[in-house]
Amino acid sequence: MYRIRFHGRGGQGMKMASHILGTAFFLAGFEVQDAPRFGAERRGAPIFAYVRAQRDPIKERGIISHPGLILVADESLVPMPAAGILDGVEKSSVLFLNSREDAATWKKRLNFPGKILAMDLIGADLNVPGGQRFFGAICAGAAAALVGVIPEDILLQAIEAELTHVEAEVIRENKTRALAAFQAMMEYSGIVKEGGGRQAAKFKKPEWIEVPFDEAGVSAPAIHGSRTSELMKTGAWRLRRPVINTSRCKGCWWVCSTFCPDSAIVAKDGRPHIDYDHCKGCMICMVQCSAHAITLVNEYEAEEADKSE
Ligand code: SF4
Ligand code: SF4
Repeated sequence: MYRIRFHGRGGQGMKMASHILGTAFFLAGFEVQDAPRFGAERRGAPIFAYVRAQRDPIKERGIISHPGLILVADESLVPMPAAGILDGVEKSSVLFLNSREDAATWKKRLNFPGKILAMDLIGADLNVPGGQRFFGAICAGAAAALVGVIPEDILLQAIEAELTHVEAEVIRENKTRALAAFQAMMEYSGIVKEGGGRQAAKFKKPEWIEVPFDEAGVSAPAIHGSRTSELMKTGAWRLRRPVINTSRCKGCWWVCSTFCPDSAIVAKDGRPHIDYDHCKGCMICMVQCSAHAITLVNEYEAEEADKSE
């Protein structure tokens, strides 16, 4: 059975990636399950989606605990325990990272028992600028090549089937980018192998640690402090940052600050200021700013600019 987990952040299209890959497997003659799993559902929060596929009926249920392929859309999730990227990895697992750093660098960094591949899926390598909008299809294209049992034409049919609700031009763009990712990964075609069945009879009970029972009043956390959400620095979720162009800004801070879901825009001296520790990069403020005073800057470009200052 193929067991594939897509990890990304809310809004990056991992649910779409799993749908496209699942449909492609189905059209190629497989039985399929595909499902997303959200935690606190917010744009930018870690999420994953998984696909199971095999020629026979699938009797396994629940999340994939031992993946054959882990495709990570956002490398900043790797060190985050809550994202669970490395959960259940085995020698046969393949980790594919969308990253500007190469596989050898990641191999040194991670205690990963299987194979690691890395490529900048939305960078210049694919020669298709503006790839972020089509990231779900791009990741599905890369994964389809890695499993090696999905032909190009089936991948394209799956994209059409999953995107019936969008315009023909958008479908065409998705196909172009998915195909570019597929072809870029073809040298690794078939690197992801089908895993064997997991028998309930072979299930080993975890070594449970007995914790003494306490009444809820003692054992459940009680948070009495106010404004504790400030301690969660959601700025680490950001891939793109809003930057206010002060010469265009009209000072109507109540507009952008009201729409910001994380209260990351505050007024100081009658002007809006963005708290980048808490701005998660959803870009709602940019959409709402009627003066077009907010622009989008990729996070790595902003970081490089900060370093050179
Ligand atoms: S909504 Fe736009 S113009 Fe108004 S304060 Fe915010 S950034 Fe400036
Ligand atoms: S400042 Fe803008 S981009 Fe950042 S969280 Fe608020 S609305 Fe989203």
